[in-house]
Amino acid sequence: MKHRDISLPDDGQEVCSVSGCGKTSKRSIPRKRVENTGSFNLQGSSRKANLCSDCYRLFKKSSKKDRTMESLGR
Ligand SMILES: [Zn+2]
Repeated sequence: MKHRDISLPDDGQEVCSVSGCGKTSKRSIPRKRVENTGSFNLQGSSRKANLCSDCYRLFKKSSKKDRTMESLGR
């Protein structure tokens, strides 16, 4: 049997959960909130999503946009 090549992040050094990003995460956000923006493709299935500083900035933007779109959609 071959060993599977799975790299687990060290404790305290989590990797951004956004698919294809792979940077060191800066914050963890409830997964639902990240998914609700519809802007991210998240890896894994944990309840929290780890976001690096770049993705966190995007997340904040997207969640703002969401609110604006909601009010515009009337
Ligand atoms: Zn990221």
